[in-house]
Amino acid sequence: MTTPNSDILAVGAHPDDVEVHVGGIMAKAAKVGLNAAILDLTLGDLGTRGTAEIRHREAIDAAKILGVERHFLQLPDARFTEGETERIALMKAFRSIRPLVVILPSLDDHHPDHRRTHRLCREALYYSGLKNYPCPGEPWRPLAIAWVGGVNPTSPPDLIIDVTEVWPQRMAAFDAFDSQVKTDPNRVMTKISHPAFRSGIEGRAMHWGSLILKPFAEGLWCEKPVPVGLLQLWHSLK
Ligand SMILES: [Zn+2]
Repeated sequence: MTTPNSDILAVGAHPDDVEVHVGGIMAKAAKVGLNAAILDLTLGDLGTRGTAEIRHREAIDAAKILGVERHFLQLPDARFTEGETERIALMKAFRSIRPLVVILPSLDDHHPDHRRTHRLCREALYYSGLKNYPCPGEPWRPLAIAWVGGVNPTSPPDLIIDVTEVWPQRMAAFDAFDSQVKTDPNRVMTKISHPAFRSGIEGRAMHWGSLILKPFAEGLWCEKPVPVGLLQLWHSLK
């Protein structure tokens, strides 16, 4: 087995998905010297506000603020399927990025693209480890897979990570998606641009933080028992 190229990879269906849920974990990973990266499946080209070009630029700016690499698959927003074309595209990306830990969108999030991304990545991450699968690149399977809880998680996280020291940086990365998140009376109001959405991010982080007696924390969910690779990540970020 060849060596990893990345310690932690967070996957989003759209630019800003990762920054909504685990911007703090990504910023903290970069801060402690881990190689952290984001993979966006689409550029959110069907979004109510912004364009693919604008969202691409914002995503690059946000990654710079977090201190992480960013990769773009450029699948068609909402129209990507769970077919072989998408699976191969993801397997090639995973075999190139070679992450030790992968963070996925929630499996039961309200947005179908987020749920589909979760299922598609779980399959691609498994098949990526099969050496005889007809796909370019050396086989790769991560040590651990985790996922975010969505905007209304129904269970407490399996891991809670203190992100207090990077909180201003993490919110600056969220705010870098101006076309999506800025509350502006001259632009149509969307869920993510509503002030309550932003305060929801802070409120959830304060709640998870309160459970470990820290100002701000972010949560991860996973299959049990918790994989050793995730415990190692938690230890690196403690
Ligand atoms: Zn999204």
